[in-house]
Order: sequence, then C-alpha cells, then structure tokens
Amino acid sequence: MKNKRILITGAAGFLGSHLCDRFIAEGFDVIGMDNLITGDLKNIEHLFKLKQFEFYHHDVSKFIHVPGKLDYILHFASPASPIDYLKIPIQTLKVGSLGTHNCLGLALEKKARILVASTSEIYGDPTVHPQTEEYWGNVNTVGPRGVYDEAKRFQESITMAYHTFHGLETRIIRIFNTYGPRMRLNDGRVLPAFIGQALRGEDLTMFGDGSQTRSFCYVSDLVEGIYRLLMSDYAYPVNIGNPNEITIKEFGEEILKLTGSNQKLISLPLPVDDPKQRRPDITKAKELLGWEPKVSRAEGLKITYDYFKSLPQEELFKKEHRSFARKHS
Ligand code: UDP
Repeated sequence: MKNKRILITGAAGFLGSHLCDRFIAEGFDVIGMDNLITGDLKNIEHLFKLKQFEFYHHDVSKFIHVPGKLDYILHFASPASPIDYLKIPIQTLKVGSLGTHNCLGLALEKKARILVASTSEIYGDPTVHPQTEEYWGNVNTVGPRGVYDEAKRFQESITMAYHTFHGLETRIIRIFNTYGPRMRLNDGRVLPAFIGQALRGEDLTMFGDGSQTRSFCYVSDLVEGIYRLLMSDYAYPVNIGNPNEITIKEFGEEILKLTGSNQKLISLPLPVDDPKQRRPDITKAKELLGWEPKVSRAEGLKITYDYFKSLPQEELFKKEHRSFARKHS
C-alpha cells in the first residue's frame, strides 16, 4: 500500500520542522512548504536526503498547487511571536486568512483532512482562568497583537464554515506557549530571549514586574497532541498545552539557576496588551484524546538549554537579538 501523504505548511519553522520529523517517523510521505520569512531551512536540512520528503518554497497566501494525492494537511505557516507580528503585520493577517482559505480549498479539492494551528492568543487577555475552549476571549482588535489574534480567530471561523458547509474533515488545535530546540534565538519570545541573554552574560529582560503568568509545554508533548487530534474525529477546537503555570519572574529565576548565570533580572516596560495570565484547561484533550503532557519543565528546559548552547557563537551574538529589549528600554 502506498504511504499516506501529508502537506505541512510552515515546515521550516519551529513546530513545523518537528511535525515533519514526526510524520516521517510515522511512515508518511511529507511535503514541507514554507516561504522562509520566519522559518529556517537549517531546521529541516536533515530531511532533504530522504525520498519521503519534498520541499516547496512557497507562500501559502498565494494559490497552492500540489500535484498528486494528499491525505492530510497541517496548516502551521504563520509568524508566531509578538516581535514577528509587529514586524510583519500584513503577512501575519494574510497567512491566517488567505493562507488558511487556500489550504482549505486544497483540502477540499484533494478530499484531505486538514488540521489548522490556532492559538491561545484567540483568548486575548483572558478574563476567565484557566481558559476552557468555551471561553470566547478578550481581544483588542486594533492593538499590536490584534493582527495575529484576529487572523487566528478568522482562521477558526472559516475552518468551521468549510466543515459545516462543505462537510470537509477539519481539526482545530489551540496551542499554548510551547518551547524546545529550533526556536529562533531572535524571535523575541521569553525563553530564547532569557537563555540567549544568560549565555551572552547579559541581564535578563523581564517585562513589567514579572507577575504575568504563562504555562510552558515541551515540543514533543505538543506534537503528540497534534498527532492524536488529527487522528481523532473531533472538529471543534481543542486546547493543547501544559497547565503548569508560572510567573515570568519565577521563570527568569529558573533560567538563571539552570544556566548558572551571575546576571540578574531587570524590569522593562510591559508591551501593550500583554496577557496577564494564561493556563490551558486541558480536560477536553484528556477526555477526547487521552492526552496530557509528560515532559516536566526541568527536563524540557535542560534539553532546550543544551540546544542553544550548541549553536555557533556568531549566532548568539547577532546584533538583532538585542534590538527588541532596547526598544522597550
Ligand atoms: N517577556 C519578558 N521578557 C522578554 C520577552 C518576553 O518578560 O524578553 C514576557 C512577555 O511580556 C510575556 C511573557 O514573557 O508576558 C511571554 O512572552 P512571549 O513573547 O514568549 O509569548 P506570549 O506573550 O505570546 O505568550
């Protein structure tokens, strides 16, 4: 029997590249697609020698043509960190809206099942804690994060419309903060920012007083959740994340300890609309998918730290790594 064939958009990104690895390991033929605006070929270069892997350099906001059959599509293309969507707000809106529309059209044409990557950002600065899938969110449409949040909200709506109107097999995952190897050092997210700063011997830039919370999920746990959701028959959104919540101040202290750094946490102004608290309610994932995270923060952070430590020194000292922090000072 021929292998199942899957298209993964955003394949050269942090999550996309781990998904390529997982689906190759599961015996799929994988087509990776990326326009390489925020993705990096380094993340998937080990796959180019495999006959089960193909790469298309393409922007999914434009019409997508894939010859041959497709059984599944994972739509993971999107800038995904506040610094990225501040830099490229229009592309962020386009990939979530036009890009999703193109992926859905392709899925319909190929009779493929599609899973789209939504996010806890659709909850905005949540007034309900922890966040259940039934909560509708608290989003500032015209704030700096609105371009990402609203694109993802539209993405969920159009995906559901294709499901109800066309009978397309659709899945929607709401991803909470995730970390692991292959995150971009300069994406402005708190984990690469803190680890990068510790490795360069700089103070750690904590935004605000650090009392805001996040709940960090290790990438292999997330990938397992995505795999199970794709193979399930549930079309409504499902939260996948680690409910172990921590303040950013405590998180910074953990990184200082892990890296053995003598630096300290310094406070910079809090970015506009920065959510004050975030923790997934994962009851649905547990009940529907039998899924829950397995990797502790201590384990996951150690692996991630070792990854960043192994990067070439010149990566670490690229000037742009410090520009975001400066903008806030
Ligand atoms: N943050 C911080 N210092 C940094 C980068 C981020 O204190 O150098 C904070 C940020 O204000 C937010 C949290 O860490 O409260 C998580 O930020 P990130 O950009 O990683 O993700 P998101 O806000 O999308 O959850």
